[in-house]
Amino acid sequence: MDCREFARRLWTFLDGELDDGACGELRAHLENCPECSEHYRFEGVLRAFVRQCCQEPAPEIVRRRVIRFIARLTTTEG
Ligand SMILES: [Zn+2]
Repeated sequence: MDCREFARRLWTFLDGELDDGACGELRAHLENCPECSEHYRFEGVLRAFVRQCCQEPAPEIVRRRVIRFIARLTTTEG
């Protein structure tokens, strides 16, 4: 998975449509990609979000923050 694919999959993830395997891939990318882990690090929210993604739905406030954040990333395209 590259970084763009990672961002795309986050959307699916927010819709709660990822299975456990896909969650694991997202988490692995975040932990192994210095760019993404730097890029997506806003108050640790996304990391915590990804970490718990397989266990429970994200709280609404976290969802909204992550959605806004990703929207900015994917619309500006760098
Ligand atoms: Zn990456």
